[in-house]
Amino acid sequence: MTTSEIIEKYISFFEKLGHKQIANASLVPENDPTTLFTSSGMQPLVPYLLGEPHPQGKRLVNVQNSFRAQDIDEVGDNRHITFFRMLGNWSLGDYFKKEQIPWIFEFVTKTLGVPAEKLYVSVFKGYKNIPKDAESEKLWTDIFVKSGLDPKERIFFYDTKNWWSRSGEPDNMPPGEPGGPDSEIFYLFDIPHDKKFGDKCHPNCGCGRFMEIVNSVFMEYQKEKDGGFKKLPQKNVDHGAGVERLLAAVENQQDVFQTSIFNPIIQAIEKITGKNYKSNSIQMRNITDHFISSVFIIDSGIYPSNKEQGYILRRLLRRGLDNFYKLEGSDPSSVIESIVEQYKKTNPELLNRYENIKNTILEEKGAYDTTLKKAKEYIFQKYKKIGDELKGKVEISADDVFFLYSSHGLSPTQIKNLGYVFDNQKFAQKMQQHQKVSRAGAGKKFAGGLADHHEKTIMGHTATHLMHQALRDVLGNHVHQTGSNITNERVRFDFNYDKKLNDEEIKKVENIVNDKIKENLSVHFEFMPLTKAKKIGAIGLFDEKYQDKVKIYFIGNYSKEFCGGPHVDFTSKVERFKIIKQENIGRGQRRLYALVGK
Ligand SMILES: [Zn+2]
Ligand SMILES: [Zn+2]
Repeated sequence: MTTSEIIEKYISFFEKLGHKQIANASLVPENDPTTLFTSSGMQPLVPYLLGEPHPQGKRLVNVQNSFRAQDIDEVGDNRHITFFRMLGNWSLGDYFKKEQIPWIFEFVTKTLGVPAEKLYVSVFKGYKNIPKDAESEKLWTDIFVKSGLDPKERIFFYDTKNWWSRSGEPDNMPPGEPGGPDSEIFYLFDIPHDKKFGDKCHPNCGCGRFMEIVNSVFMEYQKEKDGGFKKLPQKNVDHGAGVERLLAAVENQQDVFQTSIFNPIIQAIEKITGKNYKSNSIQMRNITDHFISSVFIIDSGIYPSNKEQGYILRRLLRRGLDNFYKLEGSDPSSVIESIVEQYKKTNPELLNRYENIKNTILEEKGAYDTTLKKAKEYIFQKYKKIGDELKGKVEISADDVFFLYSSHGLSPTQIKNLGYVFDNQKFAQKMQQHQKVSRAGAGKKFAGGLADHHEKTIMGHTATHLMHQALRDVLGNHVHQTGSNITNERVRFDFNYDKKLNDEEIKKVENIVNDKIKENLSVHFEFMPLTKAKKIGAIGLFDEKYQDKVKIYFIGNYSKEFCGGPHVDFTSKVERFKIIKQENIGRGQRRLYALVGK
């Protein structure tokens, strides 16, 4: 079974149960300054889990491309990956535990064919004043008895580990926050338990014998002001399962990098470097993981830079290259090719963008190679008195390490990889001093912007819609948005246009937007079928091919745009609009930066 078959089977399983498929949201969230990447299928659904009605109804299903930057340092073992596809199904105040638990068990055992005797589950044990999840326990007991298995051996209880809320454990939740118990399915591999992790093995043991494959969250409580919990009027199910882990269970393969989705990529690395996986697994896992994530991040319109998503991309590529160079690789093109080959079935757009993706990676490789060369020259010039040729390990000062780090963007590990040694502790002290200074600066900036954080972002969002329409009025209707990012400090807007805008054009756009602000137009939205939205000429990124109903925001009768919101209710609240910078971001696209507010 391939990953695309697992995805198809899951979607059709839940479609038959009355679920509507919702689109895969962009890996880089639009208009959300609080988070850099989409890291689960649930993330774009938070407003609906909190009670806003979803245009597609109460039963939803999807597959979501997800990236978890916090896991970058974990990559190298047999199971951590940063980019994965997450299968999700949701009940928004519709079905609950007695449907979800038997369904998901049926999907894993019958549809995917994973033997029931390989499966173990976890259930919420209860914590302080929140009772044990007895209903889930009962449902699992019945299922295991029916499968001829002993429920006592199969069901494990945990307290806060089996609890979900956006702020984590019950104690950390603010009043008003919803949360609830969750129940996971684990797959058991035929390997012995490692006593290093404790006397007895159990599903959450760190030894790797168990792998979590499925997690169903039952959102049924809300925290109260006095610290207690009450039942929510709308109970939700939020289920997530990583496709790559399900594949590992289907193939009974405890090293995810040896499953059929990753193995061909590993083979491409073996071929180009002439090294084998067995003796170089850590490097090859890092190369595979980091290049896959890079391919998908570039595919969402990000280029390597020193800020935000661009910085994460740069880090991934450079770490991938470090590992690739360690294996004496020089040109990673065939690795990128094999990644596109492996994902083209589920992500056919990668084929069209292959050249673009490859060139972006090779350009960054060129920049990184230059950085490495300059760093080597700097050290050679400074330390050549030691000998005209630097042989073996050369010790350099912590100040120089810090200089290379801050001016050339080299990490301490990369500096070590160049073959230099330095005093780790002195360097750490230097870093600490530097962080104290920059934190003091950041603290001030944060305090200043805090009061209007949320408001400014919403103002910027409405300004974006006005600017989008104004650009079309001034430059022509072929102009459309290709990306945007809004923070409380500025609006960033990308669009397709291959010439530099002259001063007059910029002024015209600014004037139109400011006129619309002065006219104090009302802003409202309507749900409508996609066909109708297109008919009335609504603009926007209509890539949501599965949605038969879409949300369209109207600004007076000036702008009609497909969007999730939120927006100000009247345009006068945007106050003022000014374009401050334009950039050519290549590939026939331009980027504008603008400010809103007084
Ligand atoms: Zn164990
Ligand atoms: Zn919008």
